[in-house]
Amino acid sequence: MDEYDVVVVGAGPGGSTAAKFAAEKARVLLVDKHRETGSPKRCGEGLTLDAFRDLDIPLNKRFINKEIYDSIVYAPGGGEIEIRYDKPAGYIIERKIFDKFLAAEASHNGAKVLADAHATLSIEGGYISGVRILHQGEERDIKSRIIIAADGVEFQTGRHQYNHTPPGHGLML
Ligand SMILES: Cc1cc2nc3c(=O)[nH]c(=O)nc-3n(C[C@H](O)[C@H](O)[C@H](O)COP(=O)(O)OP(=O)(O)OC[C@H]3O[C@@H](n4cnc5c(N)ncnc54)[C@H](O)[C@@H]3O)c2cc1C
Repeated sequence: MDEYDVVVVGAGPGGSTAAKFAAEKARVLLVDKHRETGSPKRCGEGLTLDAFRDLDIPLNKRFINKEIYDSIVYAPGGGEIEIRYDKPAGYIIERKIFDKFLAAEASHNGAKVLADAHATLSIEGGYISGVRILHQGEERDIKSRIIIAADGVEFQTGRHQYNHTPPGHGLML
């Protein structure tokens, strides 16, 4: 059975960023159920400059499409507010390339990245003991003390029913 310090479920921006930083200190496995990271895309692809700064993401022309100088907020009642900026407030990115870039950064820091790997939590005696992944038709059990549930809006990992985690174990949502 494989064993890691941290398993991150979901290689979206949240999961890949968590894996990137965790891999500086720990043995990390990052899994995503889709064969292609960043696809299918469900996003308007606008990202603020603060997000780039806070997450230490370089402004890389490979995934930056356009600068954002202007935004409009539409209210449910039909009103709208336009906000104009003197300098770029953020960028329209290409998620398919952006997500792959972040997963590659996690890999560069030492995380093992597995695509086409659907994860479910493994429970032993009411405790989370790791994940079971279905990877290319084969089931594999992975032991890990910490699971980071970065599976996005579908969010099955965090909904799983379990009792308590024993000392030193954790589920991060
Ligand atoms: C219509 C729409 C427009 C949006 N526009 C913007 C925008 O303009 N700007 C912005 O900043 N945000 C926008 N968002 C929000 C943005 O898309 C999310 O905040 C962002 O994708 C969340 O990142 P994440 O890493 O948490 O999850 P996700 O990007 O959802 O990634 C979750 C990953 O987990 C994987 N996964 C799920 N279950 C499993 C499993 N069991 N095993 C393995 N892998 C699994 C999925 O394949 C996926 O790759 C928009 C969202 C929507 C729906």
